[in-house]
Amino acid sequence: MAQLHFVTLTFQQKEDHLVVSLLTQFQTKIPLSELNQIAPFQLIDPHTLEFQKISQDKADIKFSHLFNKYLDSLATKITGNKATYIHSNSGIPLIGNVAFGIVYRNSSIIEIKTNNACNLDCVYCSIGEGLSSKKNDFVIEKDYLVQELQKLLDFVNEPVEIHIGVQGEPFLYGDMEQLIADIQALPQVHTISIDTNGTLLNKEKIDRLAKNTKLQLNLSLDAIDEKIAKVVAGTNAYNINHVKDIIAYASERMPVIVAPVFTHGYNDAEMENIIQWIKTLKVQPILGIQNFLHYKTGRNAAKEISWEEFYAKLDTWQSKYNIKLRLDKNDFHIKKTKDLPKPFHCGDIITATIKAVDRFPGSVLAVAENRNISVPNCEYKKDKRIKIKITRDKHNIFVGSLV
Ligand code: SF4
Repeated sequence: MAQLHFVTLTFQQKEDHLVVSLLTQFQTKIPLSELNQIAPFQLIDPHTLEFQKISQDKADIKFSHLFNKYLDSLATKITGNKATYIHSNSGIPLIGNVAFGIVYRNSSIIEIKTNNACNLDCVYCSIGEGLSSKKNDFVIEKDYLVQELQKLLDFVNEPVEIHIGVQGEPFLYGDMEQLIADIQALPQVHTISIDTNGTLLNKEKIDRLAKNTKLQLNLSLDAIDEKIAKVVAGTNAYNINHVKDIIAYASERMPVIVAPVFTHGYNDAEMENIIQWIKTLKVQPILGIQNFLHYKTGRNAAKEISWEEFYAKLDTWQSKYNIKLRLDKNDFHIKKTKDLPKPFHCGDIITATIKAVDRFPGSVLAVAENRNISVPNCEYKKDKRIKIKITRDKHNIFVGSLV
């Protein structure tokens, strides 16, 4: 008899399938008939499978093989979009793609991106993420991420901030609290900042998070009016009162930045309401109002206003409400650090191996020299070798085209 226990996997038997949830928000299905081919099995608890008449080693190997086969069908629960699990044996490095992994821009703020997918659908979303997204998603094994981050920290060899700036909502990632605790323990890290829409937080979670003394929450808040907040968030399920409670509660326990996006035509009048509400709080978080901008891959629902107009508004509100609204580089303590060498440069022709579909349908993720390269207009054939010309190399984010 063999028992297989998994912390990051949750099992549920449904009709003729075993539904396997990975890190809470991602799932695949394994037919029971194929599991029974390993050996007769039963579900002991949501994290444990038991196989009869088979040794532990054989059950481990056979289940791992079967699970890997069905990992190819992994999907994000909230959208049904295809998802790729990136783990230490996936053959996919964590540097090279702007949508997942580690992004190092030769500065003292290192970005990490654990997952894609979002439970909102904001009208201003600069990456077009959310409930209506049709893009492919990624989710990364926590220990692999921490291990690769440590390698980069050893290279940088200076105090840094780790910014969890996911293309999506970070608290959809099942291991987020543990990841933050792991990063908190890294002596080289002085600050951990995380961008979140706040909807998945509650007071108990904030109490646990607040034990991480390096953690700062960057919370979205785009309106005080309930109806306008739902329109801007792109879903009726959005509850602004919950998010306000979270901001008020968290501000008393850890550093918080509230970051509304001024989206002309949607929440113009709400900015002053937000300022007034922030001023009523027992502990006032930093308020960093942002200007809505158009992005190539964004959900560009509104018109941009010019920077002159935007800053004029900030100046007016600053003096009217006696509150600091103009934040600059000095508020974020960004410092230039060592350049990370690039294994290839724009114009180079290289050979790489296709490992996964990339974010946009029709594009693939190819791997060479421990870097990811996004290749648009390329058919997905796992492990196929392709020749590509590098067309972008800035900050070790690589794009290439087939030659
Ligand atoms: S802006 Fe943030 S919260 Fe809104 S849809 Fe995009 S990722 Fe989600």
